[in-house]
Amino acid sequence: MALIVQKYGGTSVANTERIRNVAARVARYHQAGDRVVVVVSAMSGVTDNLIKLAREIMPLPSEREMDMLLATGEQTTIALAAMALHALDIHAVSLTGAQAGIVTDGVHTKAKIQNISPKRIHELLNAGQVVIVAGFQGQTPEGQITTLGRGGSDLTAIALAAAIKADLCQIYTDVDGVYTADPRIVPDARKLDEISYDEMLELASLGAKVMQSRSVEFAKKFGVVFEVRSSLNDNPGTIVKEETRSMEDVVIRGVSVDKNQAKVTLVAVPDKPGVAARIFKSLGDATINVDMIVQNISHGAGTPATDLSFTVDKPELLKARKVIDALQAEVGFREVIADEQIAKLSIVGVGMKSHSGVAGKMFDVLAREGVNIGMISTSEIKISVVIKLAQAESAMRAIHAVFLGAATHCDPPHPRGSPDSKGRPRFRGRRGPRRRH
Ligand code: ASP
Ligand code: MG
Repeated sequence: MALIVQKYGGTSVANTERIRNVAARVARYHQAGDRVVVVVSAMSGVTDNLIKLAREIMPLPSEREMDMLLATGEQTTIALAAMALHALDIHAVSLTGAQAGIVTDGVHTKAKIQNISPKRIHELLNAGQVVIVAGFQGQTPEGQITTLGRGGSDLTAIALAAAIKADLCQIYTDVDGVYTADPRIVPDARKLDEISYDEMLELASLGAKVMQSRSVEFAKKFGVVFEVRSSLNDNPGTIVKEETRSMEDVVIRGVSVDKNQAKVTLVAVPDKPGVAARIFKSLGDATINVDMIVQNISHGAGTPATDLSFTVDKPELLKARKVIDALQAEVGFREVIADEQIAKLSIVGVGMKSHSGVAGKMFDVLAREGVNIGMISTSEIKISVVIKLAQAESAMRAIHAVFLGAATHCDPPHPRGSPDSKGRPRFRGRRGPRRRH
């Protein structure tokens, strides 16, 4: 008898047959005596289609109206899922985000959850109901419908699991768990049994489309252990939890590519105090997320000037350009170049903390592949490079083969962290039979 939150993503509820499969799974847990809260996404493609419709009307629709529109996607699914359970003679009731007590701030299209009052959910569970909650949406204290940013159903699930103190939080998707790389791009990719929040966070924010990164941050903050697993089979998934010592044995947990970034370059920006602050404050005020930033050294005679590049999410490029164009006269840069044909390729692993030479090895692989590096950024557990979009997938395969390929996890056992004969730290991948953790 457990209290369980199960989240089903868009592909898991893509059609009525899949919704019936979801209902059958939920019914199994319910009949075993578990109390189940189900969070669902919109059926796959629905949210994208709604966005497309809005854009057909105007390029930058009102964000309040976008929320009104997008929230309908999840509302369709909760009703159908409840019906599918009714068809199995199971008591189930659907709730919108607002009805489930999810209160958010008023930042339309990427609202933050402020609090959850799970009273109604508890009452319904106590009455023997399966509770089906619309993911991705909430309501401001003033009663405005909000959405939580793309992929926000994950956040709904994690936040609900924290709020109701669930024993188990399962994120059902169309893959068996978190992989060393996207298996559609890298055929050799392997499923991971476990991964730390920080690694998952890097992978999620880097575009490994397994989960929305904000939901992983939330899980980390509130210590929600969750499992990412497939709704299409009964295989165990990947457990996401706090880092453990043994996790550092592996240098790289995964490789990811983010094709959803665009690069903006401001040419000949006056090199003087306050300019970067002006630019990035304006972008921040417009709630545009800036990821990488690179500033060159000053060049040219006369007033020193520098080129400044940064990346934003591709869908926000138009908005970012509007902000930047409005600053041109005041800041006095020469021109703006926007490049959508880029990708960000990253390697991630807590093992980087205790292994050296990882960046050199990565850049070496890229060099051999003839890939030029446009921007670089690093963190304690991640190295990212911006490269040409057209080269992204082949570069990813090459890097995966070197760091995570079959050969790397068939190495003979070697004492932890000991260098190889040339004094370099040895790569330590998974070896031999799979260990269960
Ligand atoms: N339907 C929303 C989206 O496509 C939320 C979600 O699926 O998690 O982004
Ligand atoms: Mg999703």
